Amino acid sequence: MPEGHTVHRLAARHQELFGGEKVLASSPQGRFAEGAALLSGSVLDSTEAYGKHLLHHYDGGQALHVHLGLYGKFADGDGEPPAPVGQVRLRLHTDLHWLDLRGPAACELLSPPEVDALRARLGADPLRAGADPDAPYARIRRSPTALFALLLDQSIVAGTGLIFVTEALFRAGLPPTTPGRDLTPDGWRKIWADLVRLMTAAVDTGRIDTVHPQHLPEAMGRPPRVDRHGGEVYVYRRAGLPCHLCGSAVLRADQAGRNSYWCPRCQRAPRRSRAKR
Ligand SMILES: [Zn+2]
Repeated sequence: MPEGHTVHRLAARHQELFGGEKVLASSPQGRFAEGAALLSGSVLDSTEAYGKHLLHHYDGGQALHVHLGLYGKFADGDGEPPAPVGQVRLRLHTDLHWLDLRGPAACELLSPPEVDALRARLGADPLRAGADPDAPYARIRRSPTALFALLLDQSIVAGTGLIFVTEALFRAGLPPTTPGRDLTPDGWRKIWADLVRLMTAAVDTGRIDTVHPQHLPEAMGRPPRVDRHGGEVYVYRRAGLPCHLCGSAVLRADQAGRNSYWCPRCQRAPRRSRAKR
């Protein structure tokens, strides 16, 4: 599933393509025919990404809400749109540009109160200016649930996916099973700042790189990672391979229905939780 940086890049891209323009909308596949008819001819005022949710705000107060889910994809191009190929849920176009959306988990029109309700159920997005890291910590510090699951919970932190969470926990030196209530205020400040840093860099480059400069392939004289996700990481999808820092084999386990990866040596339980046992 795309992580938040992808959605923030899409919001910027769509603003560039259609911002301030009157947009024609259709649903070649038919599943969004009614919504597209309502939208068609409106002017796109602004776009917005909130976590993994994309919003287009049109004049007249209507918002288009898209969540890509596992399979959703946008494609765009210049000039006349091509004949629709496959299941195009939504097509937008102007004289200059076109945009196709296929396979989203959600593609719907929202009224202003519905947009407010969506924002209200999302946690703090590290990529949004003014996001308040105290709100997530208020929930994390009271919870016995593992940090891995808490940081993936979009009502706590919005936009984080498996790669950012896995890697931020490695960089913090905490095992993914660390209970939220064992995370110190300072520990949280560092994780939040790290998420802001890693996710902002991913918006700029379009890929997720989480290793410090001294652990890049060139610096270490190791071959670059080969993976369809791209990017250099410490432990994500590296089960059985040696940790870039200590050489221990990276471990993998099923946690909260997702794969978690960690280094048993670099990520040990914080002292505070060991003292409690
Ligand atoms: Zn290690």
